[in-house]
Amino acid sequence: MYDYHAHTNYSDGAFLRWMVEAAADAGLDGIGFADHCNVSPESTARRYKRAFGFNLDLTYERRREAIEAVREDVDVDVFDAVEMDYDPAHEAAIAEFLDDAGFDYAVGSVHELDGANVHTRSHFADKPESERRELVDRYFEKLVALVESELFAIAAHPDLIERNPHLRGFATEDHYAAVADAFRNSRTVPEINAGRLLDDYGEFHPSPAFLDRLVDAGIEVTVGTDSHDPDAIAPRVREIEAELDRRGMEAVRLDQVVERA
Ligand SMILES: [Zn+2]
Ligand SMILES: [Zn+2]
Repeated sequence: MYDYHAHTNYSDGAFLRWMVEAAADAGLDGIGFADHCNVSPESTARRYKRAFGFNLDLTYERRREAIEAVREDVDVDVFDAVEMDYDPAHEAAIAEFLDDAGFDYAVGSVHELDGANVHTRSHFADKPESERRELVDRYFEKLVALVESELFAIAAHPDLIERNPHLRGFATEDHYAAVADAFRNSRTVPEINAGRLLDDYGEFHPSPAFLDRLVDAGIEVTVGTDSHDPDAIAPRVREIEAELDRRGMEAVRLDQVVERA
């Protein structure tokens, strides 16, 4: 099994080498490091990057050297990937960066909604329900645009809004159908993401009802633990394996996805 979505100290995760060693201990055949990257020209994005101190757009070459070095020492495949913040307004900048950087593959994410990170509870808490429902509509519109852009091999955590209790429960069958339709016509595949499975949220992304719709539509999925620390990898891998078993599914291999591109 491969984990196509994990983080290192080149964004908000633990030391790359620790993550690789943990992947080997977890019995993985490979791990892909999709560190966060944002190339938005907007000043808020720039401030955010400066405040948090990670800029994979500036450090990916250094990380690539680290990945090449660690590949010599371990018996797992290590992929040089990226998790890009996606916004329809920045498609040209994203495409140009991805072209230049030449990652093994790219993961695309809608993390931002209404000028805030989806996780920021305070931003959404006091809005009336009608407005929050409309924002969930916006989220799924962005996600459909991400899938249609075909800029990415993988669309990350396709119902990230569920992590925020103020946005949770507003996703509809219509949203799911629109996303499934987009995936059917795209090289991009969704992932089963275990990022919050074992803590507060307690579900995979996509949620069981959403994954049912995708599977019904014949969409293949890949898998990612979205781990930020070494201890998270093995338990999340076990849960993903159990879920695939329960559903009688196999995760699509990335070489198959990339080949189709
Ligand atoms: Zn993400
Ligand atoms: Zn991530």
